[in-house]
Amino acid sequence: MDPAIAWIDSQQTAMERLLIDWASINTGTFHLAGVQRLVDEVAGQFEPIAESILRLPLASHHETNARGEAIEMPLGDALVITRRSDAPLQAVLAIHLDTVYPVDSPFQAVICSDERIEGPGVADAKGGLVVLLYALLAFEHYVAATGDQRLGWRVILNSDEEIGSPCSADVFAKYAVGADFGLVYEPSLPSGNLVGERGGSGNFAIVARGKSAHAGREFAAGRNAVIAAAEVARELHSLNGRWPGVTINVARIDGGSPYNVVPDVAIVRFNVRYPKPELEAEISTAIDQIVAGAAEGITLTREGRFSAPPKLFDPQYQTLLRQVRDCGLHLGLDLAWERSGGVCDGNRLAALGVPNVDTLGVRGGNIHSTEEFMWRASLAERAKLSASFLITKSLAGK
Ligand SMILES: [Zn+2]
Repeated sequence: MDPAIAWIDSQQTAMERLLIDWASINTGTFHLAGVQRLVDEVAGQFEPIAESILRLPLASHHETNARGEAIEMPLGDALVITRRSDAPLQAVLAIHLDTVYPVDSPFQAVICSDERIEGPGVADAKGGLVVLLYALLAFEHYVAATGDQRLGWRVILNSDEEIGSPCSADVFAKYAVGADFGLVYEPSLPSGNLVGERGGSGNFAIVARGKSAHAGREFAAGRNAVIAAAEVARELHSLNGRWPGVTINVARIDGGSPYNVVPDVAIVRFNVRYPKPELEAEISTAIDQIVAGAAEGITLTREGRFSAPPKLFDPQYQTLLRQVRDCGLHLGLDLAWERSGGVCDGNRLAALGVPNVDTLGVRGGNIHSTEEFMWRASLAERAKLSASFLITKSLAGK
């Protein structure tokens, strides 16, 4: 085993300590103070191996509230950290800093037991963040020992992944394009396996606007936006089954008014999952047809977008997965991959032309729930996997 890989085993305690520290900082996507604190701490940890650390403010996220008004939600910074940007072979390593747990979530404590650490984001994805850091620390030990300068890297850490990376898309477009391959540190599947093919996803809203009126005096003068939204919801739901593998989940209806008022605004929020990029146009047309079919006196407007194109199982991607599996075999890991309906920044990187393996973070489970946990042993295990993959790529050259 390369001494740089063996070094990781000596770092297990340090990795656990760092994970506990980072998971103890609440980084719900809209908890700016927490996200900025984590950005500071993470930047500090990368300093010894970085040539440049850029702290990039993200634009605010725009949403429509339950009254149909546009609201702006500020986001924390993204970090871009680079080393040997002129090396012939370039890797991009990415993971998000934010979690799904808001600052007022009851799930804040980090608890260690014999084999597990439980806490918000320990698997998704702060465990992965620690793995990413230690894989690069080990890789830089290798570079220092051998003088092999063929592989350069850039790390992209964003703070809006849990809302679909709407505002860090530009950061990926600027700093990931041109990389030869990507490594993303979402948690592996609970079995330890990786995700292979991924479907695509988009979040949308249809805003219905009618006309308010007194429910007793002038009922007939009103145009009921809640009823319009309910009809839209039914029509959207009836699209399920039209295309194989496509699902439309009507997730929420906002809006309404007091009992004695005909409601003038309601919003239907829905998610679309789809297996093939070429379906986007057809689905989009079907949504537009629903919007165009508004009843008299009702205005429907559409918001949202397809935010994560399907990640196709193309030959380049399969080669990369096999290379990761081979590195795993040398470390005693028998890795396979499975299809997933979930999406992540791996979808977005692939759409930018960067083939990538996107579940190189820790083994854990119950993510996005108040029982999230990770297996402690997977910190060193997965850091060794990534470090050995980076060394293998560097040795092979371009
Ligand atoms: Zn995640």
